[in-house]
Amino acid sequence: MLSSYPVACPHDDCDWTGSLIPSLVRGGPRAEITSLQPAWFRCPRCRRDWEARIKDDTVIILLGVEQGS
Ligand SMILES: [Zn+2]
Repeated sequence: MLSSYPVACPHDDCDWTGSLIPSLVRGGPRAEITSLQPAWFRCPRCRRDWEARIKDDTVIILLGVEQGS
């Protein structure tokens, strides 16, 4: 069973929220992620990716996704 996580798209112009199964690599197949492994999510609305870490079932979005200037 792959675990999905409640996430909110971090991109400024997209407010999608929902449940996603992460990938170990950007754009890769969905995978079971263990704590503090790299986790990539792809937004089903804007199709952009972002990187996060999962710690104790909490999704931590890494900084530097698309920093506005
Ligand atoms: Zn999005």
